[in-house]
Amino acid sequence: MNTRALLLSVVAMAAVSAVGWAQKAEYPITVIAPGKGPYTFPQGYQTPWDKIEIMVTEKMSPSLFVLHGSQGLDAAHPDGSGGRAMVLFGPDGVLLVDTQNRQVADKTLNAIRSFTDAPIKVLVNTHIHSDHTGANAFFAKQGALIFSQENLRNEMVRPPLRANGQPPPAPDMAGVPVVIYNYNADAPGHPAVTLTMNGETVDFIPMMPSHTAGDTIVRFRNANVIYIEDFYRNFGYPFADQANGGSIMGMLDAIDLIEKLASPNTTLVPGHGTLVKKQDLLPYRAMLVDVMAKVKALRDQGKSLKDVLAANLTAPYDKTTQGDTQQSKDRFITEAYDEVKDFPPIVDGKRTMPTRP
Ligand SMILES: [Zn+2]
Repeated sequence: MNTRALLLSVVAMAAVSAVGWAQKAEYPITVIAPGKGPYTFPQGYQTPWDKIEIMVTEKMSPSLFVLHGSQGLDAAHPDGSGGRAMVLFGPDGVLLVDTQNRQVADKTLNAIRSFTDAPIKVLVNTHIHSDHTGANAFFAKQGALIFSQENLRNEMVRPPLRANGQPPPAPDMAGVPVVIYNYNADAPGHPAVTLTMNGETVDFIPMMPSHTAGDTIVRFRNANVIYIEDFYRNFGYPFADQANGGSIMGMLDAIDLIEKLASPNTTLVPGHGTLVKKQDLLPYRAMLVDVMAKVKALRDQGKSLKDVLAANLTAPYDKTTQGDTQQSKDRFITEAYDEVKDFPPIVDGKRTMPTRP
């Protein structure tokens, strides 16, 4: 090699390493930020599934991408349709966290196929809701082995009655989790399953009953990312799904566990809203504590749910809470009202709901 060629190759190597460093330093990359709203939908609005796109919205590492849906179309999640899904990909195959809604299953697969041809191997469900498990059967047919907490499996096989008291539709058994594990109250934060794939180490960490009784968070150690699903949210008010064993007190425990598991730089990926760091969870925690205390004081005075709703206890938080619809506020206050008194224990992944005075 002559001097000039040597010099060129040294320059080229320096350029490659500079690019490599720059890319490493850039992660996570937000490709498409979730919408901020406000959004309004006419009465009787139906989600136009044919218009919803599933896109790569964030890149957490060269082999770990996030999928999310269009904004402004899905009345349940107008900031981005459905619940975020995560895709770890590479020569060892695809590991998928959650599956988006059933109606957009083919679009979710197409989004995955836009960056990898690897076989779909592993799917973990963070919780039961249909925007996270809706396409389970579709991805099981693609080859995914489905992992979840046993409580989630129970919730899927024996779903609670609908709000109108009618029996729910029969579950699609093709989408039911196959590999199950449980939360161990003696070892919170301990992974139930650890996989090494595609140069990443992935922990499935079962959570205490919080958003539901079957929650799992997913930690990607090398990317320094934790998918924290829906016990935290920054679009709309908190949702503890009590019919599926959720609890606001459990959401406080979940936040406290994240404060221990995450470092200040760990990127936390909620199911909805924007990506956050652990310090962003603290004002949310303080709001939960404050609202629970105020609801308890009113309920202890014998106030009815109607009175407590009328007290507008979320008012101090409306300015800083995006997507703060009346429905979202009322749901949160009703949960708190039910939880501060006579909140029954979880049996077999389910809670018998208290009867209201
Ligand atoms: Zn959810």
